Amino acid sequence: MMDSAGWIEIDQGAIEHNLRLLRSELGRDRDFCAVLKADAYGHGIDLVLPVVMALGITAIGVASNREAEDARALGFSGRILRVRPGLPGEIEAGRGAGIEEWVGGYSHARIVAAVAAAGGEAIACHLSVNSTGLSRDGLELADGRGAAELAALLNLPGLDIRGICAHFATEDADDIRRGAARFDAETQAVLRQLGPQRAPGVQRHCATSYAALTVPESRFDLVRIGAAMYGESAANEPRLRRAMSLKSRVAAVNGYPAGNTVGYDRGHLLTHGAVLASVPIGYADGYHRSMGGRAHALVRGKRVPVIDRLAMNALTLDVTAVPGVCPGDEVVLYGQQGAGVIRADDLALANGALAADLYSAWGQRLPRVAVGYSPLLSGDGEIS
Ligand SMILES: *Cc1c(COP(=O)(O)O)cnc(C)c1O
Repeated sequence: MMDSAGWIEIDQGAIEHNLRLLRSELGRDRDFCAVLKADAYGHGIDLVLPVVMALGITAIGVASNREAEDARALGFSGRILRVRPGLPGEIEAGRGAGIEEWVGGYSHARIVAAVAAAGGEAIACHLSVNSTGLSRDGLELADGRGAAELAALLNLPGLDIRGICAHFATEDADDIRRGAARFDAETQAVLRQLGPQRAPGVQRHCATSYAALTVPESRFDLVRIGAAMYGESAANEPRLRRAMSLKSRVAAVNGYPAGNTVGYDRGHLLTHGAVLASVPIGYADGYHRSMGGRAHALVRGKRVPVIDRLAMNALTLDVTAVPGVCPGDEVVLYGQQGAGVIRADDLALANGALAADLYSAWGQRLPRVAVGYSPLLSGDGEIS
């Protein structure tokens, strides 16, 4: 039994299953970049990367140098793409890990070029273009200034351009279809400008999980897959299996009469005599305060409401409808218990935001345990 107040369980078998499914769905003839930023979306690079490597996947996406260094320390020798523009110090320090940098426009390209010059060696990089209209870091090629900046950028020494990339603004199939068409046209033009010397081998990529699964023409030469590998994606793919669960235990159980209020700000009024369970998970664990009064958890396989406004290290469940709840009972805040399940959609609804906004933080604050059976890691699966 875990000796911690709350913990997350990572099912490596589910990650293996998802990766196999995704690779066969998305085509083995294009590159697959497993996105491991935010410490593998809170799942732990140390638990996810061995599965990625055992399946022979040779590209990963990271945000920080720390993630790249962790990957190298775990023996990963493939390509590492940074999925956002790096700061000068990061780019410089990231050279040791061999990070391929995300170039965010002309002024950023000059920074990458300056770091390359200082190090005396070209830096492998991917040029971000604004074909999808995210307007975050891509070069806007629809106007004259962007076109001039592109020409200047391509003349900078020290940029070893390996890819041209974009990132979608929505998870909406029509929007993605339009963005992918514009990306196709604009990147064809960039490839022509790169010319016969530099264009061969340059990969075009813009698809995330949702785009790759929903709009095949967004896949191009490489897909950058995060959410779906962890078993969560807005793309309707019921064969994916959720890899993470968030669990705790009931610490205390008490009865309170109708008319009492519960928790801070007297935020919840008991309209009936109630049995309430205190669970030692709170907003300091990354279970946001916005979940109070909106989220649900599972106890004894039954779905019960989180009724209070959450404390820093505790929350309160109304377990009146579940007979026999007592201290020590397992509580599932995300994942499955008996016939009950709390899905990412449930979290998103309760949070009013993204499930990843929650679980990426849980992974960084709570202890993780590996569960589930991965044939590959157990040494009796065929490597393919
Ligand atoms: C996080 C990220 C991805 C992965 O997106 P998912 O929706 O989790 O598959 C891909 N590309 C970039 C630039 C990202 O930041």
